[in-house]
Amino acid sequence: MLPKYDTVRVKLDDYSYNIVIGEDLLHFTGKILDKHLNRRRVAIVTDDNVAKLHLPKLKKSLDLCLIDYCCLSIQHGEASKSWATLEKTVEWLLDNRVERDDLILAFGGGVLGDLVGFAASILRRGVSLIQIPTTLLAQVDSSVGGKTGINSKSGKNLVGTFYQPKLVVIDTSVLKSLNIRDFLSGYSEIVKYGLLGDKSFFDWLNKNGKQLIGGKQAILRESIKKSCSAKAKIVSSDEKEKGQRALLNLGHTFGHALEVATGFSDRLIHGEAVSIGCVMAFEFSRDMGFCTDSDLNQVVTHFKEMGLKVDIKEVPVKLPKTDDFISLMLNDKKVKEGVMNLILVRGIGLAFVQEQTDLSKLRTFLLKKFG
Ligand code: NAD
Repeated sequence: MLPKYDTVRVKLDDYSYNIVIGEDLLHFTGKILDKHLNRRRVAIVTDDNVAKLHLPKLKKSLDLCLIDYCCLSIQHGEASKSWATLEKTVEWLLDNRVERDDLILAFGGGVLGDLVGFAASILRRGVSLIQIPTTLLAQVDSSVGGKTGINSKSGKNLVGTFYQPKLVVIDTSVLKSLNIRDFLSGYSEIVKYGLLGDKSFFDWLNKNGKQLIGGKQAILRESIKKSCSAKAKIVSSDEKEKGQRALLNLGHTFGHALEVATGFSDRLIHGEAVSIGCVMAFEFSRDMGFCTDSDLNQVVTHFKEMGLKVDIKEVPVKLPKTDDFISLMLNDKKVKEGVMNLILVRGIGLAFVQEQTDLSKLRTFLLKKFG
């Protein structure tokens, strides 16, 4: 019998889908997938770490339901969001005769989900995709909402598609094997939901964050559910990021530029760039007179208490030059006709899109930061 699980619905015109969240769901994946199958065969793409730790359980659950599978394991890490790994994945799917009505399972963290989502969207003009996210970051953010893609040497996530999965299966038990750094990286995306639109969620995290990070299942599951619900609501109202969805990028224009500046390496992982980027968004908002010192201090204090980075100076890298950094920020997808639109805040839970950011004010702010 399936264990008790929660369901969050992502409502979209023609292709709404469910996010199912529960403990030990991996064991029941075969059963959960059943009604989505056109034939009893799936293609699994995973990474080498997840393959070692959790693939046997997934395979067993498919075996139990007499579902056949082929499986590709790619190298873990951000560097796999590349043209080379995309080509390898697509060619492998074609070699294995994955057809349009088949299902591709993206089984891994955000890197894997973004890459495989992109591959599924371009293969035979779109093959059905199921996301089975295995990191906290992927469970609360990247597996939901249909953004897929790879990095380019010009910047992060610059090549990709909007392609919604048919279903997202979240097994909270797989997070037990995640190391603390990757766990915290996901936690910063959870905090982001509070910072951008829900002060009461931020207050809830102030109260429960420590237990969440300690792995207390009920709190963890609640935070995943709240995060997925927040994202589902935004995505349902603005799937293609014409307006409100941009708020999900709070801290990301700064963060992505930091990731490029540090060479997409282990020195700075995505969620760390997000916590530093959120703090920069609050600092810049404070300097522009939009929010108060008290708002900024609460954010910095919370991230620090939870063990997250709040300043690029904590990362062992050469600090970027201000003008180079602005060029990187101008390479972001949110830039339109050379004009930067930053996500800033009027307080905790009050993010907004600041159109046509004044670059000279941004320059003054960054000079103060980077020297
Ligand atoms: P990741 O996929 O690199 O995973 C981090 C590490 O954890 C990897 O080494 C991975 O092998 C390992 N891992 C995965 N599951 C594990 C488990 N259960 N136990 C132990 N180890 C495990 O990184 P991530 O933080 O999950 O995702 C970051 C990526 O997500 C970035 O590329 C970012 O751009 C992207 N992202 C996308 C969206 C979106 O909307 N599509 C949103 C946010 C972030």
